[in-house]
Amino acid sequence: MSTAKLSINLDALATNWRNLDALSAGETAAVVKANGYGLDVTRVGQTLARAGARNFFVAAAEEGVALRRALGPDLGISVFSGHMDGDTRLLQDFNLTPMLNSVDQMLRHFESLPGHSFGVQLDSGMNRLGMEPAEWAALRDIALGQSPVLVMSHLACADEPGHPMNALQLKVFREMTEGVEVPRSLAATGGILLGSDYHFDLCRPGIGLYGGQPYGDALPVISLDLPVIQIRDVLPGESVGYGNSWIARRPTRIATVAAGYADGLIRAMGAGLNAFVGDIACPLVGRVSMDLITIDVTDLTEDPEYLSLINHHQTIDHVAEAAGTIGYEILTSLGYRYARSYAG
Ligand SMILES: *Cc1c(COP(=O)(O)O)cnc(C)c1O
Repeated sequence: MSTAKLSINLDALATNWRNLDALSAGETAAVVKANGYGLDVTRVGQTLARAGARNFFVAAAEEGVALRRALGPDLGISVFSGHMDGDTRLLQDFNLTPMLNSVDQMLRHFESLPGHSFGVQLDSGMNRLGMEPAEWAALRDIALGQSPVLVMSHLACADEPGHPMNALQLKVFREMTEGVEVPRSLAATGGILLGSDYHFDLCRPGIGLYGGQPYGDALPVISLDLPVIQIRDVLPGESVGYGNSWIARRPTRIATVAAGYADGLIRAMGAGLNAFVGDIACPLVGRVSMDLITIDVTDLTEDPEYLSLINHHQTIDHVAEAAGTIGYEILTSLGYRYARSYAG
């Protein structure tokens, strides 16, 4: 096999959902935008529905279509981007619930889909999506008169528990939803970990389900094994890879493995990472190229067939940190080229 093996553990996904659900005060939904954080929205959605999730969130109406096909008619699917121009048919035909973000979206929704379920997204300070306090104050009675199914907002700094923005947004969200007799939602993964003040009626975890920080107790969901294409010996003073960026200091055995930045192993990640054979760590050396990575396997007693890049020693967050990014980006960048296998 010349392609790398990406293994996705759906049992771990389900366990992460159940464990986050046990931490949450109210209902626990699941965020499956971006094709289930890159892991296949059909399998991810079906697994989480079996685990007990009843409500799902996607970013765009088109993503909701794929999820509806996977889940059947009965479960709730909500769309963070709301009711965009051109979405009306999809929202109607696939029974998707837009989280309305603006006055324009609200007018569009009430005019084109009267009686169709909707929620309202409020901006409690992040200044990204949702109605601002003044807009909401003006429209609140009209909106509530049409029976929204949810009012929600999103935290900007929930992955930093000590950040004063958390308490500030909590206060603003409380003020904006005071006396509103509609289920409320504020917390994603980070918000769940901030404690029950942040939970309200429904939590919306994403990254924690998929094994990423800030949920430190998450079970890892993916592992990645890279096949060795070739092994060679290099002498002290010889270089490896583009730009001669790595030079051997000792007689070194180099394994060239099949995966690179075209597979989402972004070029910036090189230094500081290892590839593993069992528990033995072998450092990545030289530049990550489009399809290939080079690894110093001198300390192995046998030439390996595969080297593992993502595993319980080295998680998506370690890989992300080495590249100056976050686990979310590693997951959603995983390429189309992997041989994917799903267990559970
Ligand atoms: C992506 C997203 C979530 C899930 O966030 P995680 O940090 O992945 O748990 C929840 N709510 C909104 C509005 C989002 O955009």
